[in-house]
Amino acid sequence: MDNQRGKGLSFARRIYAPRTFGLAIGCLSVSAAMYPLNMPAWVWALLLTCGFIWPHLAYQRSSRSDYPYRAERHNMLMDSVFGGFWAATIQFNPLPSVTILSMMIMNNVAVGGPKMLVRGTVAQAVGVALSWLLFGVGFNPDTTPIQVYACLPMLTLYPLAIGMVSYRLANTLAEHKRALSDLSRTDSLTGLLNHGSWKDLLQLSFQKCQRTHSNATLALIDIDHFKRINDSYGHIVGDSVLRQLSTALQENLRADDLAGRYGGDEFCVILPNRSLLQAQEIMERLRHVCRSYSYPDEPDLQVSLSIGLASCRPELADASMWLNEADKALYIAKNTGRDKISIGAADLLAVTILSKP
Ligand code: GH3
Ligand code: MG
Repeated sequence: MDNQRGKGLSFARRIYAPRTFGLAIGCLSVSAAMYPLNMPAWVWALLLTCGFIWPHLAYQRSSRSDYPYRAERHNMLMDSVFGGFWAATIQFNPLPSVTILSMMIMNNVAVGGPKMLVRGTVAQAVGVALSWLLFGVGFNPDTTPIQVYACLPMLTLYPLAIGMVSYRLANTLAEHKRALSDLSRTDSLTGLLNHGSWKDLLQLSFQKCQRTHSNATLALIDIDHFKRINDSYGHIVGDSVLRQLSTALQENLRADDLAGRYGGDEFCVILPNRSLLQAQEIMERLRHVCRSYSYPDEPDLQVSLSIGLASCRPELADASMWLNEADKALYIAKNTGRDKISIGAADLLAVTILSKP
């Protein structure tokens, strides 16, 4: 409810300035067309009220309402009633009438699409009927040059103002879209890439690596006995260990390394343009950093990592095979005592062959 009200209020605020401006210059167009018709003073007073007081009343009405968005749409229908009323009162003098009515139609369509177009048109018809009831039906087919000039601000400045509002709105929407897209790619606990978006990047990195025959190494990192940490110190401490590991990753990797949370206590990193050996050094440093972390509230808590590495070799058919190799290497690390880095059998073979004299 509060969120809805907040959105409604921002809608009312967005409309306030264009309405104040639009109705004031609309008042000018109507005045020039009404001047020769010798209307009584109360009609002029009504015109000034519509032009200069109504925009502020409308804003007060919507901003104080429990449902500002709905109230603002009612205000727009009132604008349309006024538009129809003044078009009929100036006896459908062509240029000012078309100007006023078309600007209001533009507003209605922009805010509520076809539904608001229909409702706005009905509201304009109500305004016309009211005027005809009060002043009778009249039609004046001539627009004088002065009346043309009086319409110019409405014809030029008002669309400009609406264009600016739409532009700002489009920018805000684009920002929100970007923020939402970032959010959907990020793991909420650690701020790293989430499983899905990291896997998309894995695919791209694999393709690039195969296409350009460049180096790249994959690291799968798993916290040792994390269940025990949760059980002994609680999930809040467990969460802070996960966050600390993600911080360590961000601090010890380059900007183009791609770190993600694979799930649970498992993290994944793509290290583009890094050989197996270079990746090993980086991961060794990370292991060291994590081991040396101290947790002020839990001085005896120690965190160790098991890490599996796999390099991107031409024999790999696809990205999932690459990932599989790193997974197997992690399995070896887990099964040979944990707290260590392992490399897969195929990488080991390649390293052994290369290191032979
Ligand atoms: P191993 O050394 O074999 O990896 O043992 P382990 O205890 O770490 O085993 P495993 O990797 O299977 O345990 C992962 C645990 O991580 C299980 C789950 O309760 C816990 N976990 C998963 N996600 C979260 C999380 O977001 N926060 C916390 N605190 N714990 C999590
Ligand atoms: Mg684990």
